[in-house]
Amino acid sequence: MSIQLNTLSQSSLQDYNDCPRRFELRYLQQLAYPAIETEPALENEKHLKEGEYFHRLAQQHFIGIPAEQVSKLANTDNLQRWWDNFTNATDLSSLTSSPKGKDLPGLKTEITLSAPLGKFRLVAKYDLIAFGGEKIYIYDWKTYRKRPKNEWLAVRWQTRVYRALLVQAGAHLNGGKSIQPEQIEMIYWFPDFPNDPARFDYKADQFKRDWDALTKLADEITTASSFPKTDEVSKCSYCPYRSYCNRGIRAGDALDAELETEAEELFDINFEQIGEIEF
Ligand code: SF4
Repeated sequence: MSIQLNTLSQSSLQDYNDCPRRFELRYLQQLAYPAIETEPALENEKHLKEGEYFHRLAQQHFIGIPAEQVSKLANTDNLQRWWDNFTNATDLSSLTSSPKGKDLPGLKTEITLSAPLGKFRLVAKYDLIAFGGEKIYIYDWKTYRKRPKNEWLAVRWQTRVYRALLVQAGAHLNGGKSIQPEQIEMIYWFPDFPNDPARFDYKADQFKRDWDALTKLADEITTASSFPKTDEVSKCSYCPYRSYCNRGIRAGDALDAELETEAEELFDINFEQIGEIEF
């Protein structure tokens, strides 16, 4: 097939995995969302915006703005609760209790990495990468209203892509030294469930499995001649493209939807900032 797409991300791969037709509509045809994704729509939209804003607050803190100052920007009930949980979380204390106003060593926030993958570039934007001695921690903030199961997170493309891409393309963040899979731990931290983060370590055989699978998927997408609709009709209930597929007009439940569909952040990525190694 002739394909205009140059990049793949965890979101586009997850869409391809969940429904090739959705991947086609969203990334190849680049159709704007034609339907309200979930109900209640307004409340869901507000929650999404607050989630984005929370990411900005965390970033401001990690570039050295004191927590008390950032706290003043947490101006909704949700943001205030999330921010309080964030600054009080024992799991994050080594990250959040640094000297006021001082740039934090070993912490890279809102970093974008990319590496060639078949005919594409695989791109990922990280909320925070923390270098602590030999260990390297990938943090991802998830403002979900429902704590997903670890088993569900473990097989998500985000968990696989973020760890694999850090091994493949993160050496320049590590003083030029290559990163071994065993050094990496990925942590999903949930502002509404501050004492229950999900942690995933990594091993060489997992990295090999992930990179092989990514390469295979990239080849499959390049040569695909059709993008069929998913057989799992339940995936359609929160999908914005329902009206294109005759898969119902009623929107699905927002709590389930936020686990299954996340905003594509690729368009926020500044390609000047992308660090890449050739291989
Ligand atoms: S409505 Fe269903 S079949 Fe159509 S793109 Fe969405 S998930 Fe795929």
